[in-house]
Amino acid sequence: MAKIISLSNQKGGVGKTTTCVNLAAACAEQGKRALIVDFDPQSNASSALGIFDKKLKKSIYGVLCDDLSAGEAVCKTEVDGLCIIPSSGDLAGAELELSQIVIGRERVLEEKLEGIKDDYDLIFIDCPPSLGLLTVNALTASDGVIVPIQCEFFALEGLSQMMNTIKLVKKHLNPAIEISGVVLTMYDGRSKLSRAVLEEIVKFFGDRVYDTKIPRNIRLAEAPSYGKPVIIYDKRCAGAAAYDALAKEFLLKIK
Ligand code: ATP
Ligand code: MG
Repeated sequence: MAKIISLSNQKGGVGKTTTCVNLAAACAEQGKRALIVDFDPQSNASSALGIFDKKLKKSIYGVLCDDLSAGEAVCKTEVDGLCIIPSSGDLAGAELELSQIVIGRERVLEEKLEGIKDDYDLIFIDCPPSLGLLTVNALTASDGVIVPIQCEFFALEGLSQMMNTIKLVKKHLNPAIEISGVVLTMYDGRSKLSRAVLEEIVKFFGDRVYDTKIPRNIRLAEAPSYGKPVIIYDKRCAGAAAYDALAKEFLLKIK
């Protein structure tokens, strides 16, 4: 049965989507059956995998708010073993629609994913940069959370809010949820600031910080505009090597 992992940090632009797409692709390359659930109305994970249509009929919105099953919304990608349930612009309205459900509004995604859990080894949920009902649905459905953190001055700001949300979800909705790991993104080992931020993050999260750091790498930023994960866009670049190493570390630690 699949392990479900959310990529979450309410701060915007920290590398959630880049990590979701490239970690999932690297896991698929290492033989795992992987599914990405694009759970952000910005649809960045969908575009990064070549799905640019913002008005899709079969999307995660239909799964949450209509009677589409999760299986019916799954699309294949260019990577063998990697599928995606894409998102579309109308997901922005889902938060309001979910909030009107009287009982079980936090469990809609969990229940919908139940039907496809046996088809995958790993399901990665790319969360939006907020702590609203979409993120709460993602966390309630998940076994683990990966928190990508960008190495910059304000990196730790807002993290206590995020940790509090995870604590509340653990207490009231999903006692099994754990922080799988914290991954530093856009890391530059030569910069004093990056090293100082790393030190602070290790103080806060201890051994949950992955040894693998993701460097700032232009190929990682270019790949989504071609609708490809980095292992297909440029297999030999430093970004591809970093996500390959992260996948190995993640797969070792998740067992
Ligand atoms: P949002 O909160 O809006 O969903 P996000 O946390 O998903 O953002 P990304 O979209 O993954 O963040 O990354 C933000 C920007 O930084 C993107 O333009 C992406 O291409 C770029 N980026 C992410 N990681 C790297 C990296 N390691 N090197 C260079 N550019 C990166
Ligand atoms: Mg994103």
